Amino acid sequence: MLRDKKLFLLDIDGTVCIGQRLISGTKEFLEAVKECGGQFVFITNNSTRSIDDYILSFQKLGIMTDYSNFITASFATVQYLKKNYSGKLIYVMGTKSLMRELKRNKIRVTTDCMDPEIACVLVSYDNQLTYEKIQDTCQILSTRDVDYIATNLDYVCPIEFGYDTDCGAICQMIEHAVKKTPKYMGKPGTAMVEYALKLNHYSKEKTLIVGDRLYTDILCGHRAGVETALVLTGEATREEAEQCEYGPDYIFRSVEELYQKWLNQ
Ligand SMILES: [Mg+2]
Repeated sequence: MLRDKKLFLLDIDGTVCIGQRLISGTKEFLEAVKECGGQFVFITNNSTRSIDDYILSFQKLGIMTDYSNFITASFATVQYLKKNYSGKLIYVMGTKSLMRELKRNKIRVTTDCMDPEIACVLVSYDNQLTYEKIQDTCQILSTRDVDYIATNLDYVCPIEFGYDTDCGAICQMIEHAVKKTPKYMGKPGTAMVEYALKLNHYSKEKTLIVGDRLYTDILCGHRAGVETALVLTGEATREEAEQCEYGPDYIFRSVEELYQKWLNQ
């Protein structure tokens, strides 16, 4: 039952925000969730921004959040690297913000493709991408037998004018050159959902994953055994959702309609 949901795991881009603009109904919905003793956690594949960046940008939109409200693909990446590459050197093709987050978590990072110690290549959404970075990454992946991971497989990211290129598309470009595909960390992998459930002590039955995309958000819920709601403010259409084999449990025009249905059911 929709009314019983207490923990909302929300995607950000295309679900509650388009670029820097908040989708209407979001603020009222999040406040109502808190008032009824529930919790909301943003689980996002966007790895250009750290949790500190997100707290600040939501504050500007009038929404007060703290660390407990965010789990990002870069966070999932950090957990993976800590577990599997403790003390080893990671070559990073990503933003300065991501580099800072990795360093803060005591992960050894480099952007020098000639470093002989590199154990793993990490590729991320990178709005500071240059051709030199692409070439350096291709050089390592072509000439060495190192592991290769990426933060998220999204091909595009919604922005004010339409769509921007995301990590999955950058990885496809590299794949054409080096014939290698990375292991992806974010949704539809279930690490972020499992972590959110562990931290917040709600059952899967009381949890709802909300997102705008079938192949990441909705598939993630399907794999994690958590109910999903698709909002039509981003990438997927109602027709695509109805034809999808792992289709969502609920479809709403926007987060505003989800809020109304949740309140009144
Ligand atoms: Mg999205």
